[in-house]
Amino acid sequence: MSGYDVIVVGARCAGAGTALLLARQGRRVLLLDRAAFPKDTLSTLYIQLPGVAALADWGLLDRLRATGCPPLERVSYRAAGITVTGSSRPVRGQRVSYAPRRHVLDQLLVDAAVAAGAEFRDATTVGDLLFTDGRVTGVRCRTAGGRWVSERAALVVGADGMRSQVARRAGAEVLTSAPPKSCAYYAFWDLPSDDALTMTHADGVLVGAAGTNGATIVTCYLRQREFARARQRPLEVYLETVREHDGELYERLRSAEPPGRLYGTGDQRNFIRRAAGPGWALVGDAAVHKDSITAWGISDAFLQAQLLAQTLASGTAQDRALAEYATTLRRVAQGGYEATLAAADLTLGDDELAHLRLLADHPELAELYFSVASGAAAPQEYRAALRAHPLPAAAG
Ligand SMILES: Cc1cc2nc3c(=O)[nH]c(=O)nc-3n(C[C@H](O)[C@H](O)[C@H](O)COP(=O)(O)OP(=O)(O)OC[C@H]3O[C@@H](n4cnc5c(N)ncnc54)[C@H](O)[C@@H]3O)c2cc1C
Repeated sequence: MSGYDVIVVGARCAGAGTALLLARQGRRVLLLDRAAFPKDTLSTLYIQLPGVAALADWGLLDRLRATGCPPLERVSYRAAGITVTGSSRPVRGQRVSYAPRRHVLDQLLVDAAVAAGAEFRDATTVGDLLFTDGRVTGVRCRTAGGRWVSERAALVVGADGMRSQVARRAGAEVLTSAPPKSCAYYAFWDLPSDDALTMTHADGVLVGAAGTNGATIVTCYLRQREFARARQRPLEVYLETVREHDGELYERLRSAEPPGRLYGTGDQRNFIRRAAGPGWALVGDAAVHKDSITAWGISDAFLQAQLLAQTLASGTAQDRALAEYATTLRRVAQGGYEATLAAADLTLGDDELAHLRLLADHPELAELYFSVASGAAAPQEYRAALRAHPLPAAAG
């Protein structure tokens, strides 16, 4: 077939990561995105350690550090006056997290994909897929100049996010789904960054702060049922939430310039789609979308890019390799999906507080807890460790 080996639709963490790895395998890759790069996208930016390790494996971590993105060496988790401070166990030697601005991270990935030989066209929107005998064989896209062109490839990868056109046009089945659980608001503040990700939890609320390129990002998560109220007066609700739950952070915000803009969304869908079929595959949010509260989206996108690239390189015929990719992804995605749905309930009751007291008293258990949260340890390991520690009685 003439054209490309692979067309990747969407050029952020899933798509640019996939294009990079496939181009490094020597494939002819066309990478398309409708956005004009570099451009930000909705995200609270925190990369969990497995994602940091992937960047290191790809030879990109030093470049990320060189952008001035501050290291986040610890997590400080607080609720009802209890503070648990610690960090995850390392992943392939990486112990420090980062929360880079997305116009920085995504451009860095695109640059690496192009350096590996991928062709990148931004401001190019894929409007439809091309089919031959029921198999996806290319895309129809509108160029930056407004012209419609067809491009052919043996494989089209949809890395085009939660509202994926590739998934829709290919007929990717939704295998499981759940209603949105939380909503999120965040802003960038001109404040010096701390070396920790801080999170303050109350029932129905999570307030977080982390250093990013040249700013501190401050985020509030609320339950989905609060979204109708919050969207009426978002800045007031955001500031009230910070004031009520993290007074110290609120005082720092008061001393800073008001942020230029508040970002927010209540459209945090939860689903897993079948991730491949004849001539097509999905990676990142297009394949698995879950509430952003666990901050696993970027890291999972990298791991899926790796899984797809490895499976395609295994020597198996493409159709079988794609079927294997879809089956493996379905299996590995389930645990994180369920854990995220549970976290997005934002429940903080007596049981959760007793649990936090236990963590505050046992640093080794706290490290294991933060390791599960980062994706560096399996929940079963944590559950086994918990069995050796009877929960202290709830206060009051
Ligand atoms: C409020 C919020 C906070 C979050 N916080 C975190 C966090 O702290 N940590 C974390 O790991 N994750 C976080 N996430 C999730 C994370 O941002 C996503 O999981 C991640 O961006 C997914 O990357 P992706 O490449 O799959 O898709 P996207 O980032 O959605 O990129 C898809 C790309 O496809 C392009 N595209 C779409 N349609 C077309 C088309 N028809 N033609 C051409 N191009 C197209 C878009 O322009 C876009 O650039 C957050 C998400 C939200 C909403």
